[in-house]
Amino acid sequence: MAKTCVYCNERPGKRECPALGGLICPICCGESRGVEIKCPTDCRYFQRGEEFQQEKRSEPYREAWFEKNSEVLEGENHRLLNALALVESLVYFYYEEDQLLTDDRLITGLSELEKRFKPIEVPTQNLELTEFVDDALVKAIEAGRLTEEQIREALSRTIEVARDFSDGSRGLVQGLTGRVKEDYNLPDEHNMDEGQRGESLITTPDQLNR
Ligand SMILES: [Zn+2]
Repeated sequence: MAKTCVYCNERPGKRECPALGGLICPICCGESRGVEIKCPTDCRYFQRGEEFQQEKRSEPYREAWFEKNSEVLEGENHRLLNALALVESLVYFYYEEDQLLTDDRLITGLSELEKRFKPIEVPTQNLELTEFVDDALVKAIEAGRLTEEQIREALSRTIEVARDFSDGSRGLVQGLTGRVKEDYNLPDEHNMDEGQRGESLITTPDQLNR
């Protein structure tokens, strides 16, 4: 007799679920992986599902992004475009280390960061994503590549698109990372050390303006 799914206890379990330590049905796996079920991110079902969702959501995310930023593109504001691409690329690199990132954590992390770039000092939370992105942005400012104002505007625009696009689960994370994968010529992080990676990250957005 077939074993029933360890999650719904109704349908037959078909996939080995490393998070639950038993067989799960494809429906429960598809609906709950990476959200209710904290998948180990090397699970092949998680990986396959994630890639599928990134491919599916990248285009709608890109459209939302273009709509929001049409005047920046038309005005050929290259510095601001670089700042926008840098913010998105940094979210992507953060996601590579934390693939269960949710829309809420992404939006909160960027909103906390935005506060730090405001002229008035306000207390902010030390969230992992906030710290990660902040470090790289500060380096870009120190190197004279971007100004605080450009970064503040890039953050505010990214957050606006993010709020509109989020489905309250992980749809934004998947759309944004899918778009970055397709549109930005990011360095392959496995072939370089930390220092090289930080350096190329900062120069990468220029490649957008060919
Ligand atoms: Zn099930």
